[in-house]
Amino acid sequence: MEASKIWDECLAFIRSNTSEEVYETWFKPIKAISLQDKTLKIEVPTQLYYEWLETHFVDLLRAALTKVLGRNAKLIYAVRMSKTDDQAKINYPGASKPKINTVNPKSRIIKDINPFVIPGVEKVTIDSNLNPNYTFDNFIEGPNNKLARNAGMAIAKRVNEVAFNPLFIFGGVGLGKTHLANAVGVEIKRLHPGKNVLYVSMEKFSQQYASATINNTRNDFLQFYQMMDVLIVDDVQFLAGKEGAQKAFFQIFNHLHQNKKILIFTSDKAPVEIKDIKGRLLSRFKWGLAAELKAPNYETRVRIIKAKLFADGMEMPEDVIHYIAQNVRSNIREIEGILTSLIAQATYMHREINLDLAQEVIDKIVRHQKPHFSCEMIKQHVAKFFNIDVSLLDTKRRKRQIVMARQVAMYLAKKFTKAPLEQIGREIGNKDHATVIYSLKVVNDLMDTDKKFRKFVDEIENGLYNL
Ligand code: ADP
Ligand code: MG
Repeated sequence: MEASKIWDECLAFIRSNTSEEVYETWFKPIKAISLQDKTLKIEVPTQLYYEWLETHFVDLLRAALTKVLGRNAKLIYAVRMSKTDDQAKINYPGASKPKINTVNPKSRIIKDINPFVIPGVEKVTIDSNLNPNYTFDNFIEGPNNKLARNAGMAIAKRVNEVAFNPLFIFGGVGLGKTHLANAVGVEIKRLHPGKNVLYVSMEKFSQQYASATINNTRNDFLQFYQMMDVLIVDDVQFLAGKEGAQKAFFQIFNHLHQNKKILIFTSDKAPVEIKDIKGRLLSRFKWGLAAELKAPNYETRVRIIKAKLFADGMEMPEDVIHYIAQNVRSNIREIEGILTSLIAQATYMHREINLDLAQEVIDKIVRHQKPHFSCEMIKQHVAKFFNIDVSLLDTKRRKRQIVMARQVAMYLAKKFTKAPLEQIGREIGNKDHATVIYSLKVVNDLMDTDKKFRKFVDEIENGLYNL
């Protein structure tokens, strides 16, 4: 195969593993010259390019070349005749400190160097894919996240001690898992720019795995991940049911863990509750520290709102802030959505931010997101969870399991339908209004006192959203 075709394939890989800006600046100008056996010769515009590639992207180049040409691939640089002022034209990070004082800029140099070995240079290679806006600074601490936040901080501050490995952050939607996992990566990168930190969502990981399997490049895929110093995988629950990707993930996990590299995972469930992931992998998730992010309490919600407003340079009346904190309880992303929407109304529609407007916006954003269910749907769904026939709910049977299922169905009907209590009673078990009130109390009490029961009901409730 000819050189340029091979190089195009390398470029495609590089492009998907780095930012567009880096790609455009450092890789696009390169031309392929020749290919002999597994040695690809490329021409770079200047000596500076060569040095910069060597220092910063050697691993990425290696991964690309290995992927396209297989093991033992070699790269040779040819440096085009450089002019002294070339340097000044290139706008690259750290441009004020060019590293080319060792070379004669006028000469044409052909370097025959295998870039995969560079002695004594700290490598900044793979684009970390971190979101720079998610930092510890703007991650407000509260009792709901204190353990996870402190654990993350400890890891970032003492990368070489590897205190808990992996750090497993779990919790419901919009409670800050992605933010916190990113913050750890951003902090490590800030303190140790030379570390290879990679953030990847499990969705992307498994897609990459799938295409590596199709393209027969599974080894390169593994190699790529195994060269990380810090691997952050978001939403690992998406590994459920994907056997091949699990195997690869297991292998990567073992390699990195053995080499004392840092692993940070997030998930919407605790390790014990994840289903359809092989036990051997699940048990490894428990090796380190599992820290839960819970819903913030009222006081923390107020502080989060104030911090967001402050960051946006906005102000809002106290009563509006408290109103939002009171009414949006379980999802910080929703709180942000409401603030954004309020600010937009004020800015573009020139409306005054007051309680009326806040109420209007919350009704639109939060309440409308709640799906509307009928009592019948809820009955069907609950019966499935209790593993009983739905018709049993309408009988007079007093078997414990049936009674409990009926009570939970009433509780969810109250929560998710607009039906008055009489109607709920009539449609679920043909009971009267007082029985419904009693049932609601039973379920609420149990939810408060029995953690297992609460989890179970939460699970039924979550299932409703997926109907
Ligand atoms: P998850 O990944 O758990 O669904 P995210 O990390 O995406 O949640 O968080 C949702 C939004 O809420 C993000 O914009 C994040 O910045 C914000 N957020 C979450 N927790 C906090 C916190 N403790 N302080 C400030 N903002 C937070
Ligand atoms: Mg997330």
